[in-house]
Amino acid sequence: MTGAGGLRIAIASGKGGTGKTTVATNLAYVAAQAGCEVDYVDCDVEEPNGHLFLKPAFQEERVVSKLVPRVDAQRCAACGECARFCQFHALACVRSKVLVYPELCHACGGCRWVCPQDAIDEERQEIGRVRNGHAGRIRFVEGRLRVGEAQSPPVIRAAKEAAPKAELVLFDAPPGTACPVVETVRGSDFVVLVTEPTPFGIHDLRLALDMARCMNLRCGLVINRAMVGRTGARTLGQKARIPLLAEIPDDLAIAEAYSDGKLAVEAVPGLRRTFAQLLLRLASAAASAGGLPDKVRANLEQIVDRPAISTPLVSRRPSSGPPPVCFLSLRMRKAKADRVPINPTADQ
Ligand code: SF4
Ligand code: SF4
Repeated sequence: MTGAGGLRIAIASGKGGTGKTTVATNLAYVAAQAGCEVDYVDCDVEEPNGHLFLKPAFQEERVVSKLVPRVDAQRCAACGECARFCQFHALACVRSKVLVYPELCHACGGCRWVCPQDAIDEERQEIGRVRNGHAGRIRFVEGRLRVGEAQSPPVIRAAKEAAPKAELVLFDAPPGTACPVVETVRGSDFVVLVTEPTPFGIHDLRLALDMARCMNLRCGLVINRAMVGRTGARTLGQKARIPLLAEIPDDLAIAEAYSDGKLAVEAVPGLRRTFAQLLLRLASAAASAGGLPDKVRANLEQIVDRPAISTPLVSRRPSSGPPPVCFLSLRMRKAKADRVPINPTADQ
């Protein structure tokens, strides 16, 4: 589908923790530096974290709501027709009373329609919020689901609709391949599938590929934490005939930057070139959707043509230096160095 107003790229993956947000935020940053008008839309509404890296200043917030049924007990004849109709078990007729479970309601309006007594009205209930702001030149939109609310697609839809029309719109998807991801990638010109070269990563990449195929969406692969000798993700991409767009090395400096809420391109200067190249490849892959403006392409080409600062893929067992570690280990190591006591159970 051709994006209205610019190139619409969704960044998705079959599982959490593969580096979607790393890819999406760094892409937004490098594109903005190249003079592109960029919208970053955080569609991971259950746990949005793009703001930790882009640090936007929010200017607007609006409530997202849905219509849920309200039963007039005076009119209700307790026939149970509404509860029988509701496929989502959001209504239960118990003795002479209709119980409503708003968090299960999909706001289809069907119960109101079938009620013979005209006893059902509808009321608005908040299910989340959408915030708009700016992170430097990047226009930032974030959807946030209300705690306890089960349905994220309406909030994702609202976040996507709230994004102004820019030359490049990046949708940072939630993990997995369920309805929230489908809602995020729907209407995109191209889907970037981020994976990591582990058995779990490859397994979930297969699911993400199937989803993209079912939706008839073009997609390409970014391998994060790429290591020499781990070729499974690359081989799967070749078999599926999807382009390998970029490999981001398994670099401790990137993990440290992530745990400190910094952008990877700031921590590892050579990555700016990687992301500029990725943007150019995306623009070519989605050329039928308009690509990127010439001035932006020229600026990106300049970044790519600069002598590369080497960011080699690390070997599976590095001969020197510590192996890749989890963020808690990083924090503990830093705390030890700073002699600051740390509570391992504290909020990460
Ligand atoms: S369909 Fe109407 S009358 Fe029947 S139980 Fe539901 S609300 Fe009451
Ligand atoms: S509006 Fe639809 S989903 Fe919600 S309670 Fe009524 S029938 Fe069920």
